[in-house]
Amino acid sequence: MKYLQKLCLSTYTQAYINGEWVHSSKKFPVYNPANDEHLADVPDMGVEDVQYAIMSAKEAFEQWSQTTPKERGIVLKRWLKELEGNKQALAEIMTQESGKPPTESLGEVVYANSFVDWFSEEARRTYGELVPSPVKSKELLMVREPLGVVGLITPWNFPMAMITRKVAPALAAGCTCVIKPAEDTPLTALALAALAHEAQIPKGVLNVVTSSRTNANSVGKLLCTSPHVAGISFTGSTQVGKILYSHCSQGIKRLSLELGGNAPFIVYSNANLQKAVSGAMAAKFRNCGQACVAANRFLIQEQVFDQFVEMLKVEITKSFIQGDTSKNDKCNLGPLINLAQVEKVDSIVQDAISKGAKVILGGGKVTKLGSKFFAPTILTNITPDMLCYTEEVFGPVAVCIKFKTEEESLCVANNSNTGLAGYFFTNDISQAWRVGKKLQVGMVGINEGIISHTEAAFGGVKESGLGREGSRHGMEEFTQIKYMCFGNL
Ligand code: ADP
Repeated sequence: MKYLQKLCLSTYTQAYINGEWVHSSKKFPVYNPANDEHLADVPDMGVEDVQYAIMSAKEAFEQWSQTTPKERGIVLKRWLKELEGNKQALAEIMTQESGKPPTESLGEVVYANSFVDWFSEEARRTYGELVPSPVKSKELLMVREPLGVVGLITPWNFPMAMITRKVAPALAAGCTCVIKPAEDTPLTALALAALAHEAQIPKGVLNVVTSSRTNANSVGKLLCTSPHVAGISFTGSTQVGKILYSHCSQGIKRLSLELGGNAPFIVYSNANLQKAVSGAMAAKFRNCGQACVAANRFLIQEQVFDQFVEMLKVEITKSFIQGDTSKNDKCNLGPLINLAQVEKVDSIVQDAISKGAKVILGGGKVTKLGSKFFAPTILTNITPDMLCYTEEVFGPVAVCIKFKTEEESLCVANNSNTGLAGYFFTNDISQAWRVGKKLQVGMVGINEGIISHTEAAFGGVKESGLGREGSRHGMEEFTQIKYMCFGNL
């Protein structure tokens, strides 16, 4: 009989350790952010439970690391088949617990699955190197080995893709893992574990421990400091990334960090404005602006400023139906994830308004829809003293800043502690090359608002993080080089 029952929200609400569903005496609730409906209670695990998960992963590593890359690829392909077969159910879970519109949830499943597909193949391309020796009697060989047990800490904004983007390369490399999903979206992670079980991923190779925000610190600290964990991969805020970086220093752990951004989106006067507006819509409003690569500061050259702002306003007004994404399929703009985010976005917008920003559209909460809805907003008359000039907004707010010259645009764009993504629109090929090279970011969209693809390296510079995910480089985060010198030949 098939292990997997119909994949729905109520099915998998326990943690998954060593191939089994595990209770805990304490639980925490999960809510639908669109309507505050109580979805489930899941285990609030503490350090003892996580210790058990780490030891299970350690034991599983003994065998998993000895499988061939081809065998691991086959196991990942089995998981992929389950993920593909449960696309709709996974999307529904994500919409329920994260509030993202159904079409975006389905899009995320496709994106998330692409990592499993990609790394199931990359497993077999973890090549070593035979280096020409400087000495006749020696051969110098370098091979890639799996790191060991890895701790994967993930955020709520892409509840599925941020997990597969880490788990797939980790497993492909021969690592085993302990996943700690965000407290707002643990049900997606548990559904992924159910499908991993169904795909017969061996016990202990993939573990999911759920914990509340209260326990996140101690659980995170244990993962970063346990001598049995070899590496940490984290996606989330720069603030938490810094805490984990500091914990990891104690054991000199391998660390991969995908942190916050403050993406500039520059529109030069020679750009195709219609394409720029389409790019802006995608780069700003996907997931209601809650993406680390979301456009955060729109820098518009003065000649086209008014026209661009007007076109963006028209596009927003005609495009969005905001509301309860879980009840109404037509809603394509959802709520923010929780009240803390609503307050943060609102305080940034109100700060700007109080300092003289002009509200072209929106400008506040939409309480008639629920407690977590924020209106799509356009602000102009922005000055450097406003929070929105420097802070990552993480909401549906387009902050529009006027500039005169290319030099000025780069100066403003690069005036940030973070450097994840940057976008610009131009029809001048020389300008495209110049600006692309000068932007201090890890990823650049040129005449394009959607840039994340499995095949390309995702990651940032400055305080946006360390390492790269996706692409062939994604494997490097989970492997280490061993050099072997054959002598006296
Ligand atoms: P956000 O602000 O977007 O919620 P966070 O960085 O706070 O992003 O959260 C991302 C992930 O980090 C979540 O899984 C969360 O539970 C976890 N987390 C939060 N605080 C800590 C911490 N002190 N140590 C380890 N993990 C943490």
